[in-house]
Amino acid sequence: MNPYTQTALVTGGAGFIGSHLCERLIGRGTNVVCVDNYYTGTRANIAGLIGHPGFEVLRHDVTFPLYVQVSQVFNLACPASPIHYQRDPVQTTKVSVHGAINMLGLAKRLNVPILQASTSEVYGDPLVHPQVEDYWGHVNPIGMRSCYDEGKRCAETLFFDYWRQHALRIKVVRIFNTYGPRMHPNDGRVVSNFIVQALKGEPITIYGTGEQTRSFCYVDDLVDAMLAAMDTPDGFTGPVNIGNPGEFSMLELAELVLKVTGSSSRIEFRSLPSDDPRQRRPDISRAKADLGWEPKVALADGIERTVHYFRSLV
Ligand code: NAD
Ligand code: UDP
Ligand code: UDP
Repeated sequence: MNPYTQTALVTGGAGFIGSHLCERLIGRGTNVVCVDNYYTGTRANIAGLIGHPGFEVLRHDVTFPLYVQVSQVFNLACPASPIHYQRDPVQTTKVSVHGAINMLGLAKRLNVPILQASTSEVYGDPLVHPQVEDYWGHVNPIGMRSCYDEGKRCAETLFFDYWRQHALRIKVVRIFNTYGPRMHPNDGRVVSNFIVQALKGEPITIYGTGEQTRSFCYVDDLVDAMLAAMDTPDGFTGPVNIGNPGEFSMLELAELVLKVTGSSSRIEFRSLPSDDPRQRRPDISRAKADLGWEPKVALADGIERTVHYFRSLV
C-alpha cells in the first residue's frame, strides 16, 4: 500500500519545469500523476522517476477532458518558448484555453486547489517597470506572440471566473524567465542558445543590440515558489510574480556564459524578432509578503549548474 496521502496532478510534467516539480513533489512525499502529450516534453526528463511507486505518467492532451482522482492540480501544460509555441499557434491558444477549462472543470468536480503556471508575458512589452501584479500589460492581440500571451491571459481570466463563480481554490503564479538543467537545447531560448553555442565554439547570437534586459530565475527557486503558493491558505489566489529581480542585458549574459564555459566563441549580432520586449524584471514584493519566498540562487551559480548539465549533452 502506497503510504502517501496527497496526489498531485502535474500537467506538462515531462517538460523542463514540470519534471523538476514532479521530482520535488515526490521528494516531499506527494504522489504524482504526470500528464503530458510529449509535444515539447520528453521521457528522458522524467526517466529518474519512472518506477517510483508514487509516480504515474499518462500520455494525454489536456485540450481533451481528463477524469482522474487527485488532491491538487498544477497546470503547466503549454509550449513555452517562441519556436515551439509559434510552430502551431492555434494549438498554443487551445492548450492554454481549452486546457485551462478542462483542468478547472476537474478541480471543480473534485473541489481541490489548482495552480496555474502563468507568465510574465501577460505584461507583454511592459510600459511599467519593474512589473507589478496590478499592471494590466501592453500586449499585441494579433502578433506572432499573441497565441501565447493572449492564451495565458485568457487562462487567467478563466481561473478568476472559476474562483468568483464556483469558489474554486486557485493559485495563479506569473513566472518570469526560468532556466536550469533540462531546458531544451534547441528551443531558441537565450540561456540555452548561448550555452550550447559557447560549448560548441560557435558564435554567440545576440539579437538586436543586446541591451534588452531579462531577469533569470533558477528552476529550483521557481519550484520552491510554486510549492509555497500551493501551500498557502485557501484565500490566496495570486496573481503573484515569481522571478529573480536581478536584471541583466543579453550582452552581460553572453559575457557570463563565455566566462563560465571558458569558451572563445565570438559574439555575432542578428536582427531583433518582432514584439521582443525591451525590458523585463519582476517586482516580487507580493511573493515575499504572501509566500515568504525569494530566490536564492545567483545567476553565476545557476549558469554554472546549467552549463554542467549541457556539457553532458553537447
Ligand atoms: P516545456 O515546453 O518544457 O513544458 C511544457 C510541457 O507541456 C511539455 O512537457 C509539453 O509536452 C507539455 N504539453 C504541451 N502541450 C500539451 C498538451 N496539449 N497536453 C499535455 N501536455 C502538453 O516548457 P516549460 O518551460 O517547462 O514551461 C512549463 C510551463 O511554465 C508552461 O505553462 C509555460 O508557459 C510556463 N512558463 C515557463 C517559463 C520559462 O521561462 N520556462 C516562463 C513563464 C511561464
Ligand atoms: N472536465 C474534465 N475533467 C473533470 C471534470 C470536467 O476534463 O473531471 C472538463 C469537462 O470536459 C468540461 C470542462 O472540464 O467541459 C469544464 O467543466 P465544468 O464543470 O466547469 O463545465 P461544464 O461541464 O458545464 O462544461
Ligand atoms: N535572444 C538573443 N539571442 C538568442 C536568443 C534570444 O539575443 O540566441 C534574446 C531575445 O531576443 C530576447 C532575450 O534574448 O530579447 C530573451 O529571449 P528568450 O526567447 O529566452 O525569452 P523571452 O523573449 O521569451 O523573454
